[in-house]
Amino acid sequence: MKNIGKTSQQLVTLVVLGALLAPSLVFGQAAAPARSIYTAPKAELDKITDEGMNRSQVMAHIGYLTDVIGPRLTNSPNFRRASEWARDTMAKWGTKASLEAFGPWGRGWSLKSFSIAVTEPTYKSVLAFPSAWTTSTKGPVTAEVVFIDVKDEKDFEQYKGKLKGKIVMISAPRELKNDPLGLGAPFSEEDLARLANYVKPSTPARTQEQTDASRLEFARKIAFLFKTQQLVASEGAAVLLENSQRGSGGAVMVHNATITAPPDPTIVKTLAGVTPWMKEAEPFVIPTVTMANEDYNRLVRLIRQGVTPKMTVDIQAQFHDEDLMAYNTIAEIPGTDPQSKDEIVMLGAHLDSWHAGSGATDNAAGSGVVMEAMRILMATGLQPRRTIRAALWSGEEQGLHGSKAYVEKHFAQLPKPTKEVPKPQPVKGADYEKLSVYFNLDNGAGRIRGIYLMDNAAAKPIFDEWLKPFHSLGAKTTTMMSRGASDHISFDNVGLPGFGFMQDPLNYMLDFGLRTHHTNQDSLDYIQADDMKQAATIMAAFIYQAAMMDEKMPRKEAKQ
Ligand SMILES: [Zn+2]
Repeated sequence: MKNIGKTSQQLVTLVVLGALLAPSLVFGQAAAPARSIYTAPKAELDKITDEGMNRSQVMAHIGYLTDVIGPRLTNSPNFRRASEWARDTMAKWGTKASLEAFGPWGRGWSLKSFSIAVTEPTYKSVLAFPSAWTTSTKGPVTAEVVFIDVKDEKDFEQYKGKLKGKIVMISAPRELKNDPLGLGAPFSEEDLARLANYVKPSTPARTQEQTDASRLEFARKIAFLFKTQQLVASEGAAVLLENSQRGSGGAVMVHNATITAPPDPTIVKTLAGVTPWMKEAEPFVIPTVTMANEDYNRLVRLIRQGVTPKMTVDIQAQFHDEDLMAYNTIAEIPGTDPQSKDEIVMLGAHLDSWHAGSGATDNAAGSGVVMEAMRILMATGLQPRRTIRAALWSGEEQGLHGSKAYVEKHFAQLPKPTKEVPKPQPVKGADYEKLSVYFNLDNGAGRIRGIYLMDNAAAKPIFDEWLKPFHSLGAKTTTMMSRGASDHISFDNVGLPGFGFMQDPLNYMLDFGLRTHHTNQDSLDYIQADDMKQAATIMAAFIYQAAMMDEKMPRKEAKQ
């Protein structure tokens, strides 16, 4: 049967699908008409693939962001430089590029100089990094090291009057035995099959009681940590040493410093909602360093043997208050179809990174791939029907701030849940219906192996079709699994189709020999050019077809 659509293959697929999903549809009662799945003509996909695989510039983008600019903490000078460079580069290719402000968000932070060493019982240099937005020491601080070894508030007493001017260790040591040092690996066929066959469990994995109990336990732990920090703050510690929560063998996971308010209810009240990147936090942030697990554990062992180590720490950091607004970088290829040119298809990745490494696999890889996808489309001269809009977000590492602000401004507001309305419905804005789909890339630097469907069954046959030309490049898997923790969630939360691509884990994630995710080891060395070429080509092909298909991407059924 010849198709009415662009390719016969679609129709065949459709019929097969129909027969599988609802035989009654095909053989009996005439229910909802079958939907056609758009795929771009082979010649157009070949153009995209040829440009992406044979004239790639993706590693140049990623190399410039990582080796030339370096870590891109939100609102830091490096971040501003990176967003202006990305805007100007995409404008040079002919896209309509701009920086879009949101906020005021907060202050920037950068490191001027840093040194640290154990000086007694013997001299030893250690692997450690200042936490983001930490305050500076008043020059080099040489002091005894104290480990706060407490299980209960009554244990606090022994430290009263003993912490002033000291270097204080607050987090627990972490045994390394179960920390895999294995080299990062791609997904195996078994891994991919498991993902492809994933079925959302009908009953939640945990009972409500279990969920409440673990929430309670988590809240208890946080409250106790807060009390311990209050002790350290009120006793006047000079430096706070934190243990790397993940990683080993030279990989140190470093995030931001925390606010340590003294146990004064008025102060605690005024600090509600204050974040370390706000000016009000500065008086309540003790100079903070995150140390490699191996170095941290040794200090704890020394102290538990009755030896008092001494260290010298010198942090010289700078806050940047010139502009408290934050910026997303936006670039567009305008649509050409009179009917659908005002409709939008988006692709994106976060440009901001943590600061101990160069933010390569998280997420210069994704940002470089998104830029490259736009370059590929401009170079091919293909004319999209809908407008293609790329976004390089800021504030992702602090809580998806850039994409949330963008979705709120352009598409929908999501009211805060209340006791009365625990699951509020999004308040749709003028452009809500104009947004067809958003594609995200933020799972490290591995090649694309498929896509997470976010529980959107209607999107599966479309993506299965669009992956077919790339099976030979290792991308074939669609899974009903939802994967969160990145900017597509800002779209998914308001009921708009937002998807994250599935990538080979390699050295990225915790359970595959952590090396790069939020660590000092996040460098260009862990990015393979072929993987990035493949990813940019697939992203260009996906966004182009989303811009060309007749209908918008199907929304997932609203859950009650
Ligand atoms: Zn990321």
